Amino acid sequence: MKRRGLLIVLSGFSGSGKGTVVKSLLQKYDNYALSISATTRQPRPGEVDGREYFFKTREEFEQMIVEDKLLEHAQYVDNYYGTPRDYVEHKLEDGFDVILEIEIQGALKIREKFPDTVLMFLMPPTADELKKRLEGRGTEDEATIKKRLLRAVEESQGVEEYDYIVINDVLDDCVEQIHEIISNEHCKASNNLEKINQFRDELTNMWKGDIQ
Ligand code: ADP
Ligand code: 5GP
Repeated sequence: MKRRGLLIVLSGFSGSGKGTVVKSLLQKYDNYALSISATTRQPRPGEVDGREYFFKTREEFEQMIVEDKLLEHAQYVDNYYGTPRDYVEHKLEDGFDVILEIEIQGALKIREKFPDTVLMFLMPPTADELKKRLEGRGTEDEATIKKRLLRAVEESQGVEEYDYIVINDVLDDCVEQIHEIISNEHCKASNNLEKINQFRDELTNMWKGDIQ
């Protein structure tokens, strides 16, 4: 019996380390597939269309919404971001645990549609460290960093909605903790109904004649 893939949302303040953590998770384990989002934001230096994001114009993005090609979408600091539907559905069917690296509005929409989704929120060890990481990444100007830190204040109001909080202090520890949480989620009875029913049937068949 093929193991059913789980839908995993990983959110976190900009600069908390989501991209870094997911990259390491994908390098270490082969049961994960990362959904690549569509966005209207400009590529950062080194980002490649179809690898980090599908970079779209506002018109192209709005067309995807009209054609129902996105599982969810949201606006984040002046730009649209959204999750293409087909990839996620196919990878889940193939048994992969699909990771959506998305912000909170999208996370809540996904949970409404797919109640079994595991919602994780990545936290830096301190607010100071978050600022340091954003500045250290060197990919945004000062004004954008400020907008992202202000957005973090808003986002911090919604963290209780998540199932798990994971602190990204030492990278490897954080990656291991995320992998462990997901492995445990696979053991939930509610994620194994097919297996339970199959066993129950086999057991019943074994004693068919003796059960009244
Ligand atoms: P996000 O995707 O959440 O915006 P990134 O993965 O781009 O964040 O990480 C932001 C910056 O912090 C990057 O420069 C990255 O190298 C650094 N970083 C990520 N995780 C850690 C960590 N555990 N310790 C120190 N620096 C980190
Ligand atoms: P960044 O511009 O730093 O790559 O991403 C900005 C924010 O958008 C991050 O919080 C990231 O998780 C979120 N994001 C990326 N892709 C999606 C998506 O498809 N949908 C939603 N709702 N948020 C996304």
